[in-house]
Amino acid sequence: MRLSRYFLPTMKETPAEAQVPSHRLMLRAGLVRQTAAGIYAWLPLGHRVLRNIEEIIRDEQAKAGALEMLMPTLQLADLWKSTGRYDAYGKEMLRFHDRHDREMIYGPTNELMITDIFRSAVHSYRDLPRTLYHIQWKFRDEVRPRFGVLRGREFLMKDGYSFDLDFASAKKSYDAMYASYLRTFRRMGLRAIAARAESGAIGGELSHEFLVLADTGESRVFYDAALDTLDVESTSPAQMQALYAATDDMHGKLPCDVPADRLVKSGALEVGHIFYFGDHYSKLLGANVMGPDGESIPILSGSYGIGVSRMVGAIIEASHDEAGIVWPEAVAPFQVGLINLKTGDEACDGQAEDLLSKLTAQGVETLYDDRDERPGAKFAGMDLIGLPWQLVVGPRGLARGVVEMKNRRTGERQELSPESAMARLSG
Ligand code: ATP
Ligand code: MG
Repeated sequence: MRLSRYFLPTMKETPAEAQVPSHRLMLRAGLVRQTAAGIYAWLPLGHRVLRNIEEIIRDEQAKAGALEMLMPTLQLADLWKSTGRYDAYGKEMLRFHDRHDREMIYGPTNELMITDIFRSAVHSYRDLPRTLYHIQWKFRDEVRPRFGVLRGREFLMKDGYSFDLDFASAKKSYDAMYASYLRTFRRMGLRAIAARAESGAIGGELSHEFLVLADTGESRVFYDAALDTLDVESTSPAQMQALYAATDDMHGKLPCDVPADRLVKSGALEVGHIFYFGDHYSKLLGANVMGPDGESIPILSGSYGIGVSRMVGAIIEASHDEAGIVWPEAVAPFQVGLINLKTGDEACDGQAEDLLSKLTAQGVETLYDDRDERPGAKFAGMDLIGLPWQLVVGPRGLARGVVEMKNRRTGERQELSPESAMARLSG
């Protein structure tokens, strides 16, 4: 991709309204534009990151056996009214009428809709267990939308729902998602702590929040330092859940026997939240199945959310420096930023074009700064947008047969022949 034909409106100045690094950097690096309070347009670069995050989620959900579907953003108010949730939800829910004067809402969540769909299709215990999810925009009219996409009004969520016959099976579904979430965040280059959380308005017996450690987070988390070195792959969810971790609203309510020198306290950002709520919604909507002995059994459910758009901000909170964003490779919008220090120079143009076409052919996503700009502006721009690798083509290097390769995270630079650089980046 050539920057001269891309849409990347970066800013040099720090936007006054942005209070946290991720918000500042997302605006400055041209990832998003605010179109109304708490509502954002995703520009091409930001959209690529959002899609990369979605793909990691999809892949891990499939591995955990969850099935993807897509429910609409708009819902009839009827189900919400019949269950009392219409009044309970309050002003966060956006309500309106269609032309036939039917009351509608923009979905803040989908428990009622999925339970309604599921109960109308599943009548036997033989069709359980199932876990279904979708990735869809939500609207919550937050009192104080702030920190950019971290607390928006319209935001993208992955929300999943499990349906089981008995508690043992429901706990298995819950634990499968618990483990899957830890893997998902790790693949995004993050370390997330799963903390016992308040189960909130819905009630329920089990709930965990997944928190990314960041000084600027809205929450605080207290946890056993043993979690810092835990291997997700070789530890069972039950073993992990036995180690102490709690958000500030739960710390103090839960028994904590972690010795003071092992209790870590950190700022944190909630990126995921899972609940087991048992037969709560099944009872509200009459979602029962016929059991093995012909008896009618209420389905047991859990819900599993990830703030997909919030993730973009959370990753930046966890991974940036003074110069800009430092994308983990797995979510980076492009892997390589190719800089031509002397656009218009025959040798530089030729070498850069050659690298661009070869990298692209190898499937290495490359953004080529081919603009007629000063080198300083090109370097600063590449650092700001934070692609993992920079490849610099300049007249002095080319005279010696080398290009410069820079690792954005470590700042390490190396001079290599274009062929070796190619091999390193596509290896
Ligand atoms: P919070 O405590 O941050 O308000 P919540 O408990 O209301 O979140 P859930 O209903 O569990 O959130 O939603 C699942 C996930 O959706 C959250 O873990 C979070 O990552 C994301 N999320 C919730 N509200 C917002 C928002 N206003 N903007 C962006 N993401 C959000
Ligand atoms: Mg929460």
